[in-house]
Amino acid sequence: MFLSVIVPCYNEEGVLDKLYSVLSSEIEKDSNFSRYEIILVDDGSKDNTLNEIKGLKKLDDRIEYISFARNFGKEAAIFAGLKKSKGELVVLMDADLQHPPELIHQMADLIINQNYDSVGTIRKDREGESKIRGFLSTQFYKVINSLSETTIKKNATDYRMMNRKFVNSVLELSEYNRFTKGIFSWVGYNCTDIEYNNVDRVCGDSKWNYIKLFKYSIEGIVAFSTTPLILSSFLGFIMFFLSAIVMLVFVFKYIFFGEVVKGFPTVICSIFLLGGIQLLSIGVLGQYLSKMYLEVKNRPIYLTKEESESVSDVVTKG
Ligand code: UDP
Ligand code: MG
Repeated sequence: MFLSVIVPCYNEEGVLDKLYSVLSSEIEKDSNFSRYEIILVDDGSKDNTLNEIKGLKKLDDRIEYISFARNFGKEAAIFAGLKKSKGELVVLMDADLQHPPELIHQMADLIINQNYDSVGTIRKDREGESKIRGFLSTQFYKVINSLSETTIKKNATDYRMMNRKFVNSVLELSEYNRFTKGIFSWVGYNCTDIEYNNVDRVCGDSKWNYIKLFKYSIEGIVAFSTTPLILSSFLGFIMFFLSAIVMLVFVFKYIFFGEVVKGFPTVICSIFLLGGIQLLSIGVLGQYLSKMYLEVKNRPIYLTKEESESVSDVVTKG
């Protein structure tokens, strides 16, 4: 079988040599793979990543690469890699060797012999990661799974093997706001997961900070659920109902007991409460609107600065 490995790389100098040697020796061990290509997607790195990639390409022709015009994000890099891949089986993995390459054999076995279309991976623990990040991510999975019909397994990673049918379906979703974990779950098919113990990066730092992770979470929720929109109208309805009751009570008191409503605090509190709810709802609307705006503009998901010409391209170009 022809295997394509896709690796998004953003400022990964110093990691790629190690990745290449570990990965290629692991693939060559497996008799399921008669051919393979490793597609390195340089996501607008500011360090020496692109030169290192080109160096590897000179050593081994099975390396392919795409280099983006700027940093478009991991999701865009995954899309570009999937588009470029030609293998019957495709593996997606991080550059930092946090996704153990030896799992490839088990994933290939499940797809080839047990007729799965895709095998994902789940981290058993979050070793080497801060407690706060672990806690926040648990909350994120809870929120997104309660809001959305597409379930995303807790601690699911982007490390995944897919067959051609699955990849082609993923590529059909050409949306601009790409939340890959959701997309993988949304396409369906016959999927399974395997578990592994988390490992630390071989070198360098994680490219994600809390702000990036927060934006990513909002993206995931907005992309796969419209429940917040429904919730905000629901909230509006409840407020309307409650205030109608309160109003009736006031009128009732005035008519039957001659009591004039007093209370500066009541007025202030209701203004603040309503103002808060209104702003929140407008904010929710704004989130969806801004995503729609980006989709409607229909801009390309990434721009390529340069890319390797694979053998078949050369042949077709004569
Ligand atoms: N990455 C990328 N573009 C980005 C950020 C990250 O292509 O804007 C790549 C990065 O090079 C790595 C993978 O995505 O191969 C995962 O990134 P990282 O290890 O920083 O994330 P973590 O393991 O902390 O979730
Ligand atoms: Mg990592």
